[in-house]
Amino acid sequence: MALTRAEERAAAAKIIEEIRAMSQKLEKPWRFMEVCGTHTVSIFRGGIRQMLPEQVELVSGPGCPVCVTPDDYMDKAIAYARREDIIITTFGDMLRVPGSESSLGEEQAKGADIRIVYSPLDSIRIAWEHPDKKVLFLAVGFETTAPTAAATVLEAKRQGIGNLCLLSAQKLVPPALRFLLQDPEIHVDGFLLPGHVAVVTGTGVFRFVAEEYHIPGVVAGFEPLQILRAIYLLCRQAAEGEARIENAYGSVVRPEGNPHSREILEEVYEPVDAGWRGIGIIPRSGLCMKGKYEAFDMEHQLPLEREFKIRKTACRCGEVLRGLVTPRDCPLFGKSCVPTHAVGPCMVSVEGVCAAWYKYGQGRFQQFAQSGKA
Ligand code: SF4
Repeated sequence: MALTRAEERAAAAKIIEEIRAMSQKLEKPWRFMEVCGTHTVSIFRGGIRQMLPEQVELVSGPGCPVCVTPDDYMDKAIAYARREDIIITTFGDMLRVPGSESSLGEEQAKGADIRIVYSPLDSIRIAWEHPDKKVLFLAVGFETTAPTAAATVLEAKRQGIGNLCLLSAQKLVPPALRFLLQDPEIHVDGFLLPGHVAVVTGTGVFRFVAEEYHIPGVVAGFEPLQILRAIYLLCRQAAEGEARIENAYGSVVRPEGNPHSREILEEVYEPVDAGWRGIGIIPRSGLCMKGKYEAFDMEHQLPLEREFKIRKTACRCGEVLRGLVTPRDCPLFGKSCVPTHAVGPCMVSVEGVCAAWYKYGQGRFQQFAQSGKA
């Protein structure tokens, strides 16, 4: 049975009190990282940072798939969009992500045929309706959405559709966690693990975090109270010097994940080294289509001739996504970079760290400013 507002507030107050009690014995603050854009937004919406004692710090990691999509991918998508024989299908967030010279939104305004879809499966209908064109779905996402894109490939194959392709920038979360853990600049005492990734993968894929790096991790749901509960479990492990992976989202996440989704993923994709915007190449962190599905791989079907490079800008997304700085440390934040005119992808996506700080963080800035801590 759902809790009433008053019961939720009482439960939250009790958890905060317990976290406060544990944190009082600390010699140095605990630093926990959330690696899911939905968590980032929920933490802001719920005012969770403000509720926590000073000794418990939350930092955001590379949890938003749009934010970590590199601009060379966007440049490739734009190059395909400029062709008259191609229809691009994509999720709406991608339109405003900057490439090195343009964005899909700008190309759409100039006449490119770019259509927003709510599921990759919508691309099948568009491919049937336009047999004279190639339909290109921009497959961007983590383990959460990759099975649906893979299912689209399988369904297109079953229906004998020859004019539907994917441009894959799909990514895997566990290799990114390993990368963060190996970075000497990054200090994290625990991970708030993404519930919807774990729904697909199960919890076992995160075990290395505790076993190899002795860092605790808790799989969390998305309601503020669920997140608070997961933070409490992280604090408890940290206080006891423990490191294990706990599942605080057991109502949805099973230890073995979703075997059917995993099967589809393994059927269609294989891991490949992949570029993460502002971070660089992370070994075996991307998903590319296996050879037997190359008919659905746009880069195989219509390879682009020019070379795409990653440009350097003043955007500090890479450091923001590694938890090294907050968006406020970026000189462009709230000035030349705002949601309506984003310089970097972290300001574009609704789940982007900079967008969340911009939308929900203002009150906290004032609060900090008033207390002299800004
Ligand atoms: S505020 Fe804008 S420019 Fe700065 S790090 Fe965020 S997205 Fe990049």
